[in-house]
Amino acid sequence: MSDDNWDVIVVGGGGAGLAAAVTAAEHGASVLLFESEGELGGSTQLSAGLFTAAGTSVQRGLGIEDTAEKFFQHYMDLNHWMLKPGLIRAFCEHAGPTLEWLIDLGVEIPARESANAHMPGLCQAGVEDVWRGHVPKDQGYGLVQVLDKARRGHGIEAILNTRVQSLVVEDGRVVGVVADDIEVRAAAVVVASGGFAQNPELVDRYYPVANEAGDAMFVVAAPGSRGDHMAFGAQVGSAIAGDGWGLILPTAYFQRFHHWQSGFPPKSRIYVNGHGRRFMDEDASYAVSTGIIDAQVGGSWAVFDETARMNLPAGYADWDAERVAEEAEAGRTLRADSLSGLAEVMGVPVDALDATVTRWNAQLPNGFDDDFLRHRTLANKGSAANPDPIGRGPFYAVRLLSAELVCTHAGLEIDSDAAVLGRTGSPVEGLYAAGEAGAGILGLRYVGGGNAVANALTMGRIAGGNAARFARSGSADLATAGI
Ligand SMILES: Cc1cc2nc3c(=O)[nH]c(=O)nc-3n(C[C@H](O)[C@H](O)[C@H](O)COP(=O)(O)OP(=O)(O)OC[C@H]3O[C@@H](n4cnc5c(N)ncnc54)[C@H](O)[C@@H]3O)c2cc1C
Repeated sequence: MSDDNWDVIVVGGGGAGLAAAVTAAEHGASVLLFESEGELGGSTQLSAGLFTAAGTSVQRGLGIEDTAEKFFQHYMDLNHWMLKPGLIRAFCEHAGPTLEWLIDLGVEIPARESANAHMPGLCQAGVEDVWRGHVPKDQGYGLVQVLDKARRGHGIEAILNTRVQSLVVEDGRVVGVVADDIEVRAAAVVVASGGFAQNPELVDRYYPVANEAGDAMFVVAAPGSRGDHMAFGAQVGSAIAGDGWGLILPTAYFQRFHHWQSGFPPKSRIYVNGHGRRFMDEDASYAVSTGIIDAQVGGSWAVFDETARMNLPAGYADWDAERVAEEAEAGRTLRADSLSGLAEVMGVPVDALDATVTRWNAQLPNGFDDDFLRHRTLANKGSAANPDPIGRGPFYAVRLLSAELVCTHAGLEIDSDAAVLGRTGSPVEGLYAAGEAGAGILGLRYVGGGNAVANALTMGRIAGGNAARFARSGSADLATAGI
């Protein structure tokens, strides 16, 4: 390892770090990247790679008219306008061009409708009226492969198995990092070290709501998500944004893996609350589903019948017919021969559960859900066949809870240049951040599949470009918004 001066040092080789490194090199900067793990990719590599963006060639190929302005309005509305409009505006404007940049680098996203996050094309990412979920071929792994090829093409050295310990700060300006106890100097540093989902102390401090699932909580984020950005931020007195926010997905109490491994609950199911009433579109996007489930009084359950259990496809770790039977045998999944018996063990009004099931049987199994419009969601997912009615005992109730911790939103507050802001709101000279480490874009509500990857790559690209400009000019004033 050299301890020479570099233009730009990038901390972390996931989506944000790779985008930053490649972009900085495109601007002529000399770049060095540190990655704490044995391989590049981080959570980005584990993701479906779903990327939310507006006004793209993929949308146009499908005849869809969309703009950054519409994306911005939707993003701000869903987040109750609790985010900084200028920053969100910059993100929404640059997400589309970043997607085109990825396509130019070799990412494949066909202009065809996609039914889910594993089918390349364009899908409904969340609750937007215009589809914005871009699903790349080979998912997050494919994104990382393309970015890594570009990294190698630029001759950017990536030092693996090397966890950056701290920043080097002189007179309030960041001038390098310490790794393996060696000081390595650079004109600018980009912190792209991901989130803190794997750090229980930081989860307690910055996303305590995740602990409400108790022992059922499980983390799917990459092992490097230890929250080192928080310590870097403390060194320079950075402001923290996104406190209290993250993405925790609703699951059944017995799930332990991300849904593509855990499996999916039966299509013929209803979600029932403590009043014995159905309360939501069971297939609603997690842009809204976590909030709806968490708002129920007296708990919430997935209710289904024996036919639904028997029809579960084999090969998944959790949602499997045998596994559900074992859980019922152990008394953890509630089971009864009749609906009234099920209502009793659930502790919900018998007449209400009976009326709920009768109503649903008259609705969606006949193709229409007047109450929650689930037929629309199913159609968008390409799931055309009507579900079976709920009618054949025994009947099951599986407790729902928000327990799958995917990503965290609290980090170093950035502006629209991806410059890290100090407590006074002024940029810390020489310091940029992006992805989960750079905060202010991932908000109260996850805007839908693709929110976090788009944030990582778009803001990574902005951070890399501005870090390179700053290195060349030596002045924060000359680092302007843009890429
Ligand atoms: C299973 C799963 C599926 C997901 N699916 C989607 C999806 O389809 N679409 C979407 O938008 N979002 C998705 N997300 C969320 C999204 O993937 C992440 O929020 C995003 O990729 C984070 O990018 P990042 O660059 O900030 O962090 P990462 O990709 O995690 O990269 C950070 C890197 O920094 C390294 N690092 C950490 N500390 C140090 C240090 N001190 N020194 C050096 N290196 C360090 C880490 O090892 C890691 O490689 C998913 C997440 C998971 C876990």
